[in-house]
This record gives sequence, structure tokens and C-alpha cells, in this order.
Amino acid sequence: MMERKCKGKTAAGEACAGKPGKSGYCAAHAPAQLARRKALEGQKARLGEVLDSVITTAKAKGWHADISSQDKQGWKYASVSVSRSSRRLSEN
Ligand SMILES: [Zn+2]
Repeated sequence: MMERKCKGKTAAGEACAGKPGKSGYCAAHAPAQLARRKALEGQKARLGEVLDSVITTAKAKGWHADISSQDKQGWKYASVSVSRSSRRLSEN
């Protein structure tokens, strides 16, 4: 019987000891899974950049900006609530 170990490598460069699925890789190393995760990371980074620039712009204008919701599954959208208050002391 063949050795039943994942064909992937850990972050440290060692052979992964995970249980392989049909692809010969464990759930974390399956190529489809890796591609999906890589795409998600890119999406998350792009959304983060957009949110950063929105919040930076709002703060530069003296507005209060908060991320009220974020799509944490696909990182495709987020809501930012921006408010402008003349009563700056009311901030918690
Ligand atoms: Zn693995």
C-alpha cells in the first residue's frame, strides 16, 4: 500500500503530514483550495486598500468613518458609515 500522506509542504518546508484527499493533498494543500485561497487573499488586499483610502479621506476631512460591515467570505464588498459631527467631545 502506498504511503498516505499529503504531497504538500508546510510553511517551514517540511513534508505535510496531513491526510490526503482524492488529489493526493490534504484539505489545506489541495491545488483548487490553494488557488481559491490565493484569489481570496488578493481580493481581501484590494478591498482593504479601498477601505483604507476611503477612511483616510474621511478622516482628512474631519469626518468619523467606521467599517460597519464587511464581506468576510469573498471580500467583495463592505459598508463604511461616515458621519460628521460638530460635537467632537461626544466621541467615546
Ligand atoms: Zn497538506
